[in-house]
Amino acid sequence: MRLPIFAFLLFLAPAVLADGLPELGEAAQVDLPPQVEKRIGESAMQEIRRDPSYLEDAEVSGYLNRLGRRLTAKIEEGQQDFEFFVLKDSTLNAFAMPGGYIGVHTGLIMAAQSESELASVLGHEISHVTQHHLARMVSKQSQAQLASLLAMAVAILAARNNPDVAMGAAVAGPAAAMQQQLNYSRDFEREADRFGLQLLEKAGFDIRGMASFFERLQKFGRLYENNAPGYLRTHPLTTERIADMENRIQQRPYRQVADSLDFHLVRAKLNSQEGSPQDAVVVFETQVRERKALSLQAARYGLARAYIRAKNLDGADAQLTELRRQKVASPMIEILAAELRSRRGDPGGAAKILRAAMPRYPQERSISYALAEALLDDRRPDEALKLTSDDLQTYLADSKMYELQARAYAMLGKQLLQHRSLAESYRLQGQLPAAVEQLQLAQKAPDGDFYDRSQVDARLREMRALLAEEMKRKKP
Ligand SMILES: [Zn+2]
Repeated sequence: MRLPIFAFLLFLAPAVLADGLPELGEAAQVDLPPQVEKRIGESAMQEIRRDPSYLEDAEVSGYLNRLGRRLTAKIEEGQQDFEFFVLKDSTLNAFAMPGGYIGVHTGLIMAAQSESELASVLGHEISHVTQHHLARMVSKQSQAQLASLLAMAVAILAARNNPDVAMGAAVAGPAAAMQQQLNYSRDFEREADRFGLQLLEKAGFDIRGMASFFERLQKFGRLYENNAPGYLRTHPLTTERIADMENRIQQRPYRQVADSLDFHLVRAKLNSQEGSPQDAVVVFETQVRERKALSLQAARYGLARAYIRAKNLDGADAQLTELRRQKVASPMIEILAAELRSRRGDPGGAAKILRAAMPRYPQERSISYALAEALLDDRRPDEALKLTSDDLQTYLADSKMYELQARAYAMLGKQLLQHRSLAESYRLQGQLPAAVEQLQLAQKAPDGDFYDRSQVDARLREMRALLAEEMKRKKP
């Protein structure tokens, strides 16, 4: 549970500011340029992406980003990019980092009882970003101090995965002390609630979701007693805040909003990965038998996934057949069907299902990834190469697709191109030293024509320049 500490370090209100919080409501005096905010967020993300709790699941993160975009599309001024990501952590937490990076714990997604509830947390976090709460807290600080704060935050994150207890203890002390100061001020919380509620309403969600979810979080807090869930510690939740929300909500007309199927499928997928495979099977078998679930179709989907974990492929197939019979349509169902084929040793069959699904869900990244993987498993590198290369024409910044392309080149025995693709994949993850290393390997590769070689040389020069610039910035 150190990651939220790390994230909120970036929001640390320095002691010098404690007595002079910025005025709210006025045009924020932002001394921190947006590029700097973005850079801070990016370097934090580089660490987070390497953390074992970072969830690399294109279905879950794809869904969360779609949900987030429904809200950010309603931001009126100052359009900015947002990236929503998921951490595998059962505690109820979500946090925003400078530059528009918003993290959500799996525990929070599973605790949400409606899509509007989940959206309300995203809306609140988005508002911390759009209102530049970080920048307004550090506006009187020099960037150098900010850099040392960031360095410390990264050290704490590193300690999280370091079995060396002494080092962990060394940073845990100050970290714990800082946690006390990390909470946003009540004024910032109220502002994030107010703007979040507006986004929620404009995007067509049920605004009562906000009050109901926060009330539930508060109840959780009482259960945990002193060990309140992270969200409450970092976003102090008061009865006053909830009352304020309820006041605003009561003035609005009642609106019934249906949840998307994907909301329920994503929750079921995450739930099916909890505990032992047998535990997961029991949870979903009970839901299906007693018809006690927010979505019975999602319960069947969760049961199929739990059966796959328990290696009961026939059981999973039976659930899939029932979902097909009920004409349940979602890219997640197609991926489930393809996964079942692969598990039965039929990657060709999996590729066929995914190929057929592509025109129906052309924007769905998870389908493209799964198809490329199925083609590689089926040892059809030429087709995998065509798919990944075509895809990268549209999605220029997709590190995962570059990695799949590298695997296709590797299977075709094209070493120079394999390393070149891997270099692009690392670059897009912000790992410049690894990118440079791959380009050096590409230079040494025995294959490749004159054109490819000179391209690698040019790219290596560019990356080295970028790396040098980055090193210069990191120096105090
Ligand atoms: Zn907050």
